[in-house]
Amino acid sequence: MEISKDHPRYRSLVTRERMSELVGKGVVASTGLIAHGRGEAFDYLLGERTVPAADDAARAAAAHLLEARRPVITINGNAAGLCAEGLISLASAIPARLEVNLFHRSPERIERVCRYLEGVGASELLGREQDSWLEGIASDRARCAADGIGSADVVLIPLEDGDRAAALAAAGKIVLAVDLNPLSRTAIAARVAVVDELTRAVPNIERHVLELRDRPEERRRLIAAFSNERNLEMMRKAMCETLHPKG
Ligand code: ATP
Ligand code: MG
Repeated sequence: MEISKDHPRYRSLVTRERMSELVGKGVVASTGLIAHGRGEAFDYLLGERTVPAADDAARAAAAHLLEARRPVITINGNAAGLCAEGLISLASAIPARLEVNLFHRSPERIERVCRYLEGVGASELLGREQDSWLEGIASDRARCAADGIGSADVVLIPLEDGDRAAALAAAGKIVLAVDLNPLSRTAIAARVAVVDELTRAVPNIERHVLELRDRPEERRRLIAAFSNERNLEMMRKAMCETLHPKG
């Protein structure tokens, strides 16, 4: 489909086309498109920009990633489709391991998502072998890599579902989420929820990683000062202000 560059929703339309093509290639799950739509609706309420409170959360997330002993970034189909290069670049800046971990999983789909990521430069991906289990999840979605999520102390979960976010937190891991819905179980279960669109949030977290790399004291100060509850409250307020602009 031809999309005119001056269409006011050009970016959103191009992304939709891409995601829909990736459904055809088996990288994005068909229900992933529905999840993407929910994200778009919340992004509309943010004016499709990174608001100051979301930037604070991105900085706190960067601090945690640098303080971690074994940081892992998980990638599902939507995260791969939206932001593969950004996630690969963030992982190498920290450095962190990347683990493919799907909601709708089959060995074939895991292989397709891994190949897709390797096609745009990922190396040493985890997730083909899932030899560990998270407690508290009944289905095979509990599976993860022992070398990755299984032994991670800090996990960044872009677009993860609420059950797994809660199970990761219950396993004692520091959970960092990127999720546009400030009401979602994922955002609430996280130590730090970055309420921002993935393709804005990921390069922003990387920028903070580079800034905080040689500033351990600043990192610890940021971590101690951050309250996810307070930040989510500010994000909900930012959305309300779009709905009810002060005259
Ligand atoms: P809960 O966390 O309450 O269990 P959920 O996980 O069932 O909710 P889903 O619709 O499955 O919700 O997950 C999609 C989540 O990802 C939504 O909260 C949506 O706002 C968010 N999301 C979708 N696309 C993006 C995006 N591009 N950037 C950031 N967040 C996104
Ligand atoms: Mg969720």
